[in-house]
Amino acid sequence: MNERAHILPAVQAILDRSSVDAGPCAVLIVRLQGMREAQLRFGYDFGSEVMLASRERIVDAVRHVDTVFVAGDDTFVVVLPMVRNRTHALLAATRIVAAFDKALLRGERPWHGRAVVGVAIHPDHGVTAEWLYRRAELAHDEALRIGEAFAIYKPDVTPVEILYGELREDIEANRLQVAFQPLHDLRTGEISRVESLARWTTAAQVVVGPNDFIPFAERSDLIVPLTRWSLNASLRHAAALHRGGCPMDVAINLSPRVFVEQGFAEQVLGAIEIWGVPPQSVIVEITETALLTDMDMSVRVLRRLRDCGVRVAIDDFGTGYASFAYLRHFPATELKIDRSFVDAMRGDRRTELLVQAMIDVAHRLGLEAIAEGVEDEFTLRRLVEMDCDLVQGYHIGRPMPAEAFVQERLAAVSMV
Ligand code: C2E
Ligand code: CA
Ligand code: CA
Repeated sequence: MNERAHILPAVQAILDRSSVDAGPCAVLIVRLQGMREAQLRFGYDFGSEVMLASRERIVDAVRHVDTVFVAGDDTFVVVLPMVRNRTHALLAATRIVAAFDKALLRGERPWHGRAVVGVAIHPDHGVTAEWLYRRAELAHDEALRIGEAFAIYKPDVTPVEILYGELREDIEANRLQVAFQPLHDLRTGEISRVESLARWTTAAQVVVGPNDFIPFAERSDLIVPLTRWSLNASLRHAAALHRGGCPMDVAINLSPRVFVEQGFAEQVLGAIEIWGVPPQSVIVEITETALLTDMDMSVRVLRRLRDCGVRVAIDDFGTGYASFAYLRHFPATELKIDRSFVDAMRGDRRTELLVQAMIDVAHRLGLEAIAEGVEDEFTLRRLVEMDCDLVQGYHIGRPMPAEAFVQERLAAVSMV
């Protein structure tokens, strides 16, 4: 029996189980470009290993309720129950595509593949697993044909345009929101900083997190207006805190793509000046992919910002392949240790030692050490003992709407 013959009944079972009231199901065909060449060059064992690692990437990119099947040498079938609407299904496709942005490391050999995704929705595009499978395949072929990373089955509309239009309109109409998450300074015992995190509630009232729409924006030109919006919205709230006698640092996430924009540093500095926030209280957070994209350009932009007092944090430290190499060139002022390490610290001595080592490296280079993803008191205490400077995580405070955060803070100040 071939793989499809195994998978179809399992997909059908999921369709049968999920109630229509909870929302439609989506069936996705995910095919990895370049797998066949990799197999022919490096052998079938290598191919199998890449498939295993790829499956993990996809599993990490989707929700716990979603199911990932391996359907051949280069293909996966992903079933997403309760997707609410098409936008939601397409955003999941974007996440899967984005999961392959970084090369997979198999042994010594990096593998850089690209995922192309076809999407079909139950019940709109079929009620049986077989029909959905076939239509997701057709959508996949359509995506390949038009050179997109994904497509949805529907001969008469291009759904990417729907998603693009919806996000663009909402950015332009200032309908995205800023959430602030507090950071606790372990040296002063105060909440001294917030990280600004974008939120999008679509017209259909679906709250979409940035892990879903930022990769989509990055793949289109929307990342430019989105970054402009994020800078201004974050600084506006920060300015309110400063004016109200509760000055606080604000950390803003910058996507690697915007560094190549002409005059980007001036745009940031201009926004800081307009809102009247001291540049020393603004931190831009960059992940290392920023540097891998265009090291020289990124360093130039960041130096210009540093010269004017803006601080620079390396985000998600420890997750990339080049962490140490780029520390040499990077004009950073702080280092944010990735959540995956902090989260795994409990009860794992080796991870604890790693986190300690990262804090020490930061200090030796004259950088502040920040731990993100602190979810319990035990981890917090260990980080205090390790001499970490700042901590962030659900245990300190969850992200909340920036308006509410600002109001709460200003009310607390006026009580004193
Ligand atoms: P990040 O910069 O690493 O942001 C931290 C993420 O971890 C946030 O997710 C936050 O809600 C989550 N988090 C914080 N504390 C905890 C914890 O204790 N446990 C767990 N499990 N999670 C925690 P969020 O808001 O979904 O943001 C995801 C990513 O999207 C961010 O990762 C950042 O890279 C990106 N992002 C967010 N807003 C923007 C934006 O305005 N522009 C750009 N370019 N990227 C953004
Ligand atoms: Ca960040
Ligand atoms: Ca981070």
